[in-house]
Amino acid sequence: MLSPIDILKKFYGYSSFRPGQEEIISNTLAGRDSLVLMPTGGGKSLCYQIPALCLPGITIVVSPLIALMNDQVQSLRANGVRAEAIHSNRPEDENDMALELAARGELKMIYISPERLMLDLDRISGRMNVSLIAIDEAHCISQWGHDFRPVYKELKAVKEKFPTVPVMALTATADRLTRSDIASSLGLSDPFCWIGSFDRPNISLSVINDPGKQKRLAAIASLIDEHPLDSGIVYCLSRKKAEDMHKALADMGYRSVCYHAGMLPAERERAQKLFVNGEAQVVCATVAFGMGIDKSNIRWVVHNNIPGNIESYYQEIGRAGRDGMPAQAIMFYNFGDIMTRRGFVDGSGQKEVNGEKLDFMQRYAEATVCRRRILLSYFSEESHSDCGNCDNCRSPREKFDGTILAQKALSAVIRINCVEGIGMVIDILRGLNNSGIIQKRYHQIKTYGAGRDLSSWEWNSYIHQMIQLGLLEIAYEDNFHLRPTPYGMKVVRGQERIELSKYRKPLFPAGKKQKNSQAEVKPAFATPEEELLHILKEVRLDISKEEGVPAFVVFSDATLTDMVEKRPIDIEAFAGVHGIGQVKLTKYNKKFIGAIRKFRGLPATLPSGSSTKETLILFNGGMSVEEIAEIRGIQKATVLSHLAEMTEEGKVTDFDRIISEEDIAKVGKAIDGNPEGAYFRLKEGGMEPGTIRMAQAIINYRKKK
Ligand code: ADP
Ligand code: ZN
Repeated sequence: MLSPIDILKKFYGYSSFRPGQEEIISNTLAGRDSLVLMPTGGGKSLCYQIPALCLPGITIVVSPLIALMNDQVQSLRANGVRAEAIHSNRPEDENDMALELAARGELKMIYISPERLMLDLDRISGRMNVSLIAIDEAHCISQWGHDFRPVYKELKAVKEKFPTVPVMALTATADRLTRSDIASSLGLSDPFCWIGSFDRPNISLSVINDPGKQKRLAAIASLIDEHPLDSGIVYCLSRKKAEDMHKALADMGYRSVCYHAGMLPAERERAQKLFVNGEAQVVCATVAFGMGIDKSNIRWVVHNNIPGNIESYYQEIGRAGRDGMPAQAIMFYNFGDIMTRRGFVDGSGQKEVNGEKLDFMQRYAEATVCRRRILLSYFSEESHSDCGNCDNCRSPREKFDGTILAQKALSAVIRINCVEGIGMVIDILRGLNNSGIIQKRYHQIKTYGAGRDLSSWEWNSYIHQMIQLGLLEIAYEDNFHLRPTPYGMKVVRGQERIELSKYRKPLFPAGKKQKNSQAEVKPAFATPEEELLHILKEVRLDISKEEGVPAFVVFSDATLTDMVEKRPIDIEAFAGVHGIGQVKLTKYNKKFIGAIRKFRGLPATLPSGSSTKETLILFNGGMSVEEIAEIRGIQKATVLSHLAEMTEEGKVTDFDRIISEEDIAKVGKAIDGNPEGAYFRLKEGGMEPGTIRMAQAIINYRKKK
């Protein structure tokens, strides 16, 4: 039997476990229940997939997310694991067929929705040899969580039905209350608990005070420009806002799709597919999007509006950078959104809990200290130092006496009788010459142009700070006009001084060029690495289209990046790339090595002898002769002739996995007797040519030794 680490190498092509995986796997193999808390992208699936491959029976994975089930099944199959999914979106006869295959012991894993599991519980317990039950998104069982699903409560029956089968509960989001709820609601007995770190240090965090619609759009456009071949998500508060954003980006020539619950299922599916395939650069979506999206190369997530709680926010930004490479999370913060959210909270069943969650979210948005520490503390995780990868860490807020600056803004607001919003006030301060200003004669007031020396981004930041400090307020009931508070009036009169935090540039270029053409973007490459990565991504896209699977099922970005680094031009080097298991090695080596060879100015075809080496690598990785023939689509005799050749070179010594000593002896005897006709006599006696060739090679090898 292969050990967990061998399986990790053979099926997944990874060389080591991530934190927690090994402990969780070994406890599971010892038959213990477990509770696994790991952030999105932490590597939860391997925690049950590897035991599934070690254990003799079948592993059942309960998941509420159909899209995720399908992705996982595809990914498993791409790695050579037999798996099926059972859920309401599949035709009944296919579901039945899957259950039948499982009952016959022909599957290693089955993904099933909780509703369906409850329905088929007797059928499953009666007919299948179940080795492990994994319950994904386990926080759905708790009313304290943000995603309670009543059917999860029924999963208690699982432990009753299978008292001796280990159960693994997994989740990516759970505050303390939810955690203890999960274990008790599922009836886990003395579970092994792994509370993984929620830190996702590769995601940079920043919050930008809403600079207005146009600037926001420009900022998003510049994010897309920064990552032309990758993709990002813009989360919007409402369906309408998602659609508007989508239209605006599409009009600028970006490949955008829209996604929300108001769309027809087929439209939604199509949007999701375009996004996952990498054909769309950006999806403008409501929170309905993302559950179960397993796409590892999302490079940025923008929150166009503030989310309702930290859990949702964390889950949404966690969709970026799942491959561990740098990613950006940017939130636009606007007070109006808080008011809208308050409205939602008041109408929700759990006003108090949700109100507190929103307060915390607001505190995060307004924070001037390390944002990651705030997030981690929310999940009860200790952090002893600032992260260095959030806006507040990168440029700590320097304070200055902002009294005069504030007086200018306040006085502008007062002189126009408090009938304008932030945007117009900034235009007045900066002395802009637009028609709105001229029409309303704002160019004649005293403070017109008093703040010319500052950019609109700077004014935007300062006015927001003044709101946070309580000098100005926004009249939500009156078209979002700005007006001074009594405290603000004191500042205008010089009775109070105030401190402001110095403006600092956002973590990304705040709006660059805008494109107007629909024309395909022809990226210019800054480095050869970038160019090669681009080439490899195109190879991947071609394959994914050909096979009808999402690009990440072929290879993750982390794998392509490692390929760029190692630039393998032969099969041995290719096998050493991170994330290339045996099945993918065989399936894809020619296309990728070919592209790299071309890039390096070599003939695209692999050097001679590559086929033999490929067989050797697979054989040494633990595959049998039959498996190698099947997966490579070649004759068994060819595999044997490869192994014979390698035997003569002394590179194969594991003979008992190929041929019996009895057969070797038979061949030996025939050759000793009469070498001339030995081959034909053996063949006539029913021995296969490949076996004869192999035996000869072994005999020669032993003679030489
Ligand atoms: P989660 O379910 O926790 O969100 P996944 O199981 O989908 O995370 O894993 C995220 C990514 O990390 C996947 O691409 C997965 O193949 C990869 N991964 C998991 N474990 C390892 C490992 N030990 N070494 C390298 N990559 C890993
Ligand atoms: Zn920080």
